[in-house]
Amino acid sequence: MIYLDYNATTPCDPRVVEAMLPFFSEFFANPSSLHRPGQEARRAIERARSTIASFLGAKEEEVIFTSGGTESSNLAIRGVAQALRKKGTHLVTSAIEHHAVLNVFRSLEKEGFSVTYLPVDANGIVHPEELKKALRPDTILVSIMHANNETGVLEPIADLARVAHEGGAIFHTDAVQTVGKIPIDVTVLGVDLLSASAHKFYGPKGVGFLYIRKGTPIAPQILGGHHERGKRAGTENVPGIIGMAKACEIAQEEMGEEARRVGALRDMLEQGLEERVPDIHIVSRNVPRLYNTSLVLVAYVEGESLLLNLDFEGICVSSGSACTSSSLEPSHVLLACGYPHELAHGSIRFSLGKWTKEEEIFRVVAVFPKIVEKLRAISPFSKGR
Ligand SMILES: *Cc1c(COP(=O)(O)O)cnc(C)c1O
Repeated sequence: MIYLDYNATTPCDPRVVEAMLPFFSEFFANPSSLHRPGQEARRAIERARSTIASFLGAKEEEVIFTSGGTESSNLAIRGVAQALRKKGTHLVTSAIEHHAVLNVFRSLEKEGFSVTYLPVDANGIVHPEELKKALRPDTILVSIMHANNETGVLEPIADLARVAHEGGAIFHTDAVQTVGKIPIDVTVLGVDLLSASAHKFYGPKGVGFLYIRKGTPIAPQILGGHHERGKRAGTENVPGIIGMAKACEIAQEEMGEEARRVGALRDMLEQGLEERVPDIHIVSRNVPRLYNTSLVLVAYVEGESLLLNLDFEGICVSSGSACTSSSLEPSHVLLACGYPHELAHGSIRFSLGKWTKEEEIFRVVAVFPKIVEKLRAISPFSKGR
């Protein structure tokens, strides 16, 4: 199998699994228990919190553990909206967010908030001037993703956060695609809230964190015991948290080298496809984007057919976003960039990672053109070309 879908999820690093194992059956006690094993589990969690905080340039008490990226963004957006409702009811986000963010805003609209969805340019970039125009005296929160999961495009977060703050709003970023891939310092970014998920950077599924700058007003969304300083109730996922901290340590050590190695493979892939397949377009090729991601538009064919044919050859990719790929709706990200429906339907996302090998890229570059040729031969769209 050739796995090129690392933006959907990553395999756990064996070193992460090894770090987690003792916390299932040996150090299993509830970290809220007052006995010694409980306190031992508590100390392990607090060590993990400290590792993650220093990885982000944050304070320990600013890191809250959650069940993943979706929960972190729900807590950030809904939590701030509820806490500041009396101050204002206007919220700002972008048209290209992940559904974990977009659908929270859609539900807040039903609850009486008004939401501005910022447009992006043809490369998928949110411009700070657009944010400036959208801000109102009653704007309480702005949420813009750090890197887009489909295109890999990096948004100018530091500039956007500055504009939001000048307008008196709180700033959240969904950094699920950047944490573990590129260095992140919350002070340099200037954000108030930042969401991350362990399974996107070689940690386990079902665990993530939310960075909450000290003093940021936020209403808890899961109520129960006094866990996570009252911001998120529920017994902590101890093995998951330990694994996530280990994944941060490994990323800190290795991400520089990974960026060089994986970036070279991604460039090789794009060059190979471009040389061998006519009428393809590589999205946002010339703007800052993640080194592991390549979104390719293939004219006259459907992304889903391409995906299934690649799967038959043992090559795992995604068509647009994993969420839209089962609904047959074209990607909202590509539509927001201004691509026509026909082209947006023919998108294939390659996302590379730690275990991607050069031979695998050679094989994709050899197989892909044949599949495209076959599909175009039977495609009604390619008539009269
Ligand atoms: C995967 C992803 C999420 C969701 O994270 P989960 O941990 O799977 O809930 C949110 N935002 C982006 C950009 C993602 O890529």
